[in-house]
Amino acid sequence: MTTIPTITLNNGVEIPQLGFGVFQIDPDETKDATLTAFEVGYRHIDTAEMYGNEAGVGEAIRASGLDRSEVFVTSKLNNGFHQRDAALKAFDGTLDALKSDYVDLFLIHWPLPGIDVDYVETWKALEEIYATGRAKAIGVSNFQQAHLQRLFDETNVVPAVNQIEVHPYLTQDALRAFNTQHGIATEAWSPIAQGGVLDDEAITSIAERVGKTPAQVTLRWHIQRGDIVFPKSVTRSRVEENLDLFSFELSDDDVAAIGALNKDERTGPDPDEFNYIPS
Ligand code: NDP
Repeated sequence: MTTIPTITLNNGVEIPQLGFGVFQIDPDETKDATLTAFEVGYRHIDTAEMYGNEAGVGEAIRASGLDRSEVFVTSKLNNGFHQRDAALKAFDGTLDALKSDYVDLFLIHWPLPGIDVDYVETWKALEEIYATGRAKAIGVSNFQQAHLQRLFDETNVVPAVNQIEVHPYLTQDALRAFNTQHGIATEAWSPIAQGGVLDDEAITSIAERVGKTPAQVTLRWHIQRGDIVFPKSVTRSRVEENLDLFSFELSDDDVAAIGALNKDERTGPDPDEFNYIPS
């Protein structure tokens, strides 16, 4: 079975650098999709309350025969729960859905800078959760530099990760460098831009030369840049393909050529503008 490298977070917790994302997997299909990922060799699952499929992830863990300690599970606080008590309650809901005593990593899903309840208050609630040991690490998602700076200035725990949109069309060099400078690991969501970069001529020509697929080349680019990735797929052959990243290496020139494709193009919302609260 493939050995997946780990990254050590700023509190000593080890996270597999490659995981399996379950965004947009139907709740009814999540157990089977996650079980397939476990069979193929993944041991890190990225879910969220917003995805409605934490329960399926928990079912898969229990059905897999794996010990809970062998699996790294991340979940995220949904946007409607930014007030302290609501955040604590929502976290209990996440553990109930997973039927687990803890998560490995718990994130604020979006900063929501335009809503009344400040993400700083929300972060303090995550600090309380962290202090109980029921989240082994805490972090944020979609935080820009200014949002992180407020956490540094006004709270105690430095986030272990910042999960942000990153792919060859949105390389996020400045924010990634800022994360690194502060000891925060970068997690790259939509690592293949939901398939949107796979026809790029620069990527397909490298793929042809090294004898790998465009998805593998793109994911390998992330791995060599040091980011944590969790591509999503409900297609078994792709789930296998996306794990087969550790038997080849890209040259520095190829890494630079893919990085040069940046056009600051998002597939998802701009975190500075996004204040959506699900009803
Ligand atoms: P990805 O970049 O992982 O792309 C997923 C899409 O690409 C699916 O349509 C999938 O199709 C297809 N695909 C996967 N592998 C291959 C392959 N080898 N060849 C061709 N096509 C492929 O996008 P996601 O948006 O799902 O991002 C990954 C994860 O990041 C999410 O699941 C979630 O965990 C996280 N995320 C976090 C966000 C946040 O705000 N924090 C926002 C968005 C994502 P198919 O399934 O049909 O095989």
